[in-house]
Amino acid sequence: MVGPATNRKAIDLGLGERLAKPDAKGVTLECCSRWICEDDAHEPLSVISDFWIPPMLLRSAFAIAVVAASPAALAQITPKAAEPATLKANAEMARNLPFADRQDFDDAMKGFIATVPDALVPGRGQRPPVWSMKPYAFLKEEGAADSVNPSLWRQAQLNTIHGLFKVTGRVYQVRGFDIANMTIVEGDTGLILVDTLGSPDTARAALELYYRHRPRKPVGTVIYTHSHADHFGGIKGVTSEADVAAGKVQVLAPAGFTEAVASEIVLAGSAMSRRAQYQFGIILPPGPRGHVDSGLGKTVGRAPLSLIAPTATVERNETRTIDGVEIAFHMAQGSEAPAEMLIYFPQFRVLDMAEDVNHTMHNLYTLRGSEVRDGNLWSRYIGEALEAFGDRTDVVIGQHTWPVAGQARVARLLKTQRDMYKFINDQSLRLLNHGYTPLEIAETLRMPASLEQEWSVRGYYGTLSHNAKAVYQKYLGWYDGNPANLNPLPPVENARKTVEYMGGADAVIVRARDDFARGEYRWVASAMNQLVFADPSSRAARELGADALEQLGYQAEAGPWRDAYLVGAAELRNGVPRISGASTANADTIRALGIGQFFDYLGVRLDAAKAEGKALTINWIFTDSGQLFVTTVENSALTWMAGRQATKADATITLARGTLDALALGQTTLPEAVKAGLAKVEGDAAKPEELLAMLDTFNVMFEVVEPKNATRR
Ligand SMILES: [Zn+2]
Repeated sequence: MVGPATNRKAIDLGLGERLAKPDAKGVTLECCSRWICEDDAHEPLSVISDFWIPPMLLRSAFAIAVVAASPAALAQITPKAAEPATLKANAEMARNLPFADRQDFDDAMKGFIATVPDALVPGRGQRPPVWSMKPYAFLKEEGAADSVNPSLWRQAQLNTIHGLFKVTGRVYQVRGFDIANMTIVEGDTGLILVDTLGSPDTARAALELYYRHRPRKPVGTVIYTHSHADHFGGIKGVTSEADVAAGKVQVLAPAGFTEAVASEIVLAGSAMSRRAQYQFGIILPPGPRGHVDSGLGKTVGRAPLSLIAPTATVERNETRTIDGVEIAFHMAQGSEAPAEMLIYFPQFRVLDMAEDVNHTMHNLYTLRGSEVRDGNLWSRYIGEALEAFGDRTDVVIGQHTWPVAGQARVARLLKTQRDMYKFINDQSLRLLNHGYTPLEIAETLRMPASLEQEWSVRGYYGTLSHNAKAVYQKYLGWYDGNPANLNPLPPVENARKTVEYMGGADAVIVRARDDFARGEYRWVASAMNQLVFADPSSRAARELGADALEQLGYQAEAGPWRDAYLVGAAELRNGVPRISGASTANADTIRALGIGQFFDYLGVRLDAAKAEGKALTINWIFTDSGQLFVTTVENSALTWMAGRQATKADATITLARGTLDALALGQTTLPEAVKAGLAKVEGDAAKPEELLAMLDTFNVMFEVVEPKNATRR
């Protein structure tokens, strides 16, 4: 199994290549993940969590294996056992919640038709699976592992259920083939798909599962309920750009969909992609000491997303008949997503609450980072839906988690969710009006006893703690009003002075070890964070910080908190994974941007230092849409105007939008495009080149739990 003692070493291997083979030096190479190597003969070293490389992070087809280390060296990077304080906290959770109530399990299995073993979606060729529940088989154990919060364990079991389900009438759902659900409504002649999962591979597999058990009607309509990637990313697995362009398939989305996609996943795409690795534990191997669940679903998909822009948008509450199916759209703009809508099917008495009602407390703020959401508005939309459709609804479904049937139970679920968001919003506002700051509010606020025991509002995805802070952020922003916090030293300088005042690193570690033994993990994590920022090479600080984060992860009820803590622990122990992270700002999402948004994206990439002292004005003529734009770089800022041309531009470029995308993505250069007849440049041809040379590129894999590598920027 474990080879002779050597230092760990990362090596490049072809994806899917068998990893358990002796290398030239006689050292055993171990597969580091069940995902990469499912062969039972190759016992996975799931302990080496940071070297597991999900395909979605791969820019090129390579994987990193690990030259197994000595047991002593391995101990440094191995997830550790739950400490006594963790066992106590988890046991208390097990005592205080109504685990005997199994209604959710019945609901999650209701209408089950069929599935494929492990919900396996194989990777192409030699590639590892895009999706599989097999690594989560450990969740079949009735009682939670002691390194997992028992409430999260229960949710994780529910989210492991997968298959094709009949909801009612002509409404079906495929669940458990991605983090989100695909809802399939049978029209008279074709299918109406509500949401398309997160990647073409999982979407194709979900639709195929449906077709194996139902008539193979063509897809006629795709509805995106909202602007999040787990709901549109799979579109190219269920239809094609050609079919949409030919009018064979219409794609409907709420108004503002494309703008919301752009602002959420392109403009801040690189940072959000990296932070999503923490939120979803993307680098963690599944297991009782690794990834267990994302709270809202099992995990995020492991293949690149796709996007086809909507052919039409829904602007207001209205009822349409599509292929014999009556559909009432109910706008929920600015709730869980900036562009979102709820859907009611009167013929089937089914209400689809999109992502506004789930069997969890959702996020008013997401740990990956996004604009905060309005809990008041969110609550109001749920109330509106209850009022408009509640007495005509037999089943409520969502685009995550499982349906609830029966009018009384539907009403109860909607009310509970409505009140939960309103409670968080209003009580956080009440406390901030007493002058409490975010940390104080988060620490003070407790759910009312009437909601405390409701499984559907437990914090598996959002938490009361970070949602309360979101309300503060929405109304008062980042500043807590205390001028000591107005302009403090940045992390590294702050840490150095703090550690110095605390009597130096060695003294801090001695005391922190005592606190760790007492279970004071929050404090130890924070103290060790100071030590690591003061001196990232301190092994002792990294180890103890990792140990503290890990215990916090084992206690967390929220999937994203657990994942964030465990990823933090892994990176403290092993450093930033040597992988090329993929940004959600990719060819498909960039193509979906309007031209103005596209120029905003270029503005985000403008490297101010390179633009220092430069001034250039470029006219753009788009041959495909006939649109005119002028962009100006001045004062290290890129601004644009639509429908205009500058009289004294440095250059005028005539091209199709696709050529501009290719230039921005580095797929071609301007001289190449000119040579190929795809672009024409009049005026000073050097100027556009100058602009492109000023554009920055982002490395997704930046440091999070340690100081930024200053040499890189
Ligand atoms: Zn979603």
